[in-house]
Amino acid sequence: MTTAVRRVFEGAYVATVDTAGHEFDGGHVVVDGSRIVAVGAGPAPVWAVDGLAAPGAAFAPSVTTRIDARGHLLTPGLVNTHHHLYQWLTRGIAQDSILFDWLVALYPTWARIDEDLVEAGAAAAMAVLARSGCTTVADHHYVFPQGSGDILGGIVRSADTVGVRLHGTRGSMDLGRSQGGLPPDFAVETTAAALEASAAAVEKYHDPSADARVQIAIAPCSPFSVTADLLREAAILGRSLGVRLHTHGSETIEEDAFCHERFGKTPTQYLDDLGWLGDDVWMAHSVHLDEHAIARFGATGTGTAHCPSSNARLAAGIAPIPQLLAAGAPVGLGVDGSASNESGQLGTEIRQAVLMNRLRAGADGFSVRDGLRIATLGGARVLGRDADLGSIEVGKLADLALWRIDGVEFAGLADPVAALGLAAMPPLTALYVGGDPVVDEGSLTRADERTLAADAARASATLRARA
Ligand code: ZN
Repeated sequence: MTTAVRRVFEGAYVATVDTAGHEFDGGHVVVDGSRIVAVGAGPAPVWAVDGLAAPGAAFAPSVTTRIDARGHLLTPGLVNTHHHLYQWLTRGIAQDSILFDWLVALYPTWARIDEDLVEAGAAAAMAVLARSGCTTVADHHYVFPQGSGDILGGIVRSADTVGVRLHGTRGSMDLGRSQGGLPPDFAVETTAAALEASAAAVEKYHDPSADARVQIAIAPCSPFSVTADLLREAAILGRSLGVRLHTHGSETIEEDAFCHERFGKTPTQYLDDLGWLGDDVWMAHSVHLDEHAIARFGATGTGTAHCPSSNARLAAGIAPIPQLLAAGAPVGLGVDGSASNESGQLGTEIRQAVLMNRLRAGADGFSVRDGLRIATLGGARVLGRDADLGSIEVGKLADLALWRIDGVEFAGLADPVAALGLAAMPPLTALYVGGDPVVDEGSLTRADERTLAADAARASATLRARA
């Protein structure tokens, strides 16, 4: 709900990321409560600083705070479209492995997580995300050991601790090694249990409202860890409940070979046949797509969470992001799990996306503004939130990142947006979620970082001792 505060930002370089790509050097943004009420060039309008009602509004907030944002870049809050937050506890392991070997090395440890450990890891991961400009976090959680408590509840609590929006998922695995899958049998659930728990998670935690701080999607893990029955039934269930669908797809050549051997199809053909393409679906990675798959993603509006650092860490390949965008498919940016991207920062992932896509598409194939766009509005579209999130426009939620660009790292830099896309990640002065400050003067406002760090370190040690 709206709070009785107006925040007036003046003097920043404002990159709105609206459809036309408006940018204002020395512009203003006015926020009433949780929503943006003005944005444009030059100083804020007189009504805003005089405490009068915004055009079309009946009342003005009772308190006005003016923020001198000179020397800053103001962008929409970044949207992370794919993560496995609990992996904060298992970083730096299997450092030189490809995906399948890395997974096999980590499954036994992951099978010993519980609600409290996941809460500690997720809070640390979300603190790092917030400190790197991220206001909305999608998490793909698919490991639910027997007797491990309410793991999703722990993730929901940690999002509230840090203050970010959460798009949590109830993931699942039901294809163990004895049935031809990759995960060990002790790490998987039955198909029926996974579906029942998915429905219960939506019932318990999903908020369908436009201002939602927590939404839930249904997310069987991947073609090599989930049965066709679970994929088919999960899609039907998600659509009956009106929530989005998420999975991993086309990440590695080994996954491609698995699908050809087992189903005689590419991963995209396999998922398409099970009802897993559509504008309510987003896939992590989409690295190994042929022309047919790219066209199907575009025609169906299937989203992609592009995770360039993870794809490089596991040597998975370079996703055809410019081709997906040209086909009209939604694309967002993702950190991926912290065990395959130990940095955990989303702000640095913009630069990574720019550099990596150029290796495939050429120097003019992916711009810094392409990078900022997939990190904001693109991600909001992937999560079905672009009516309310992802750009600085009147009427949208005030999820904003204020980056300091007057330091020596950026002195003389010709283009402020290149600070995020090519230079060092700027220090984050402030981060707002729905108008509420989550980071202020570079520090979290709602949680103590040292406490989060100590809790995460203790949880990681506990987990390793169990494995
Ligand atoms: Zn992933």
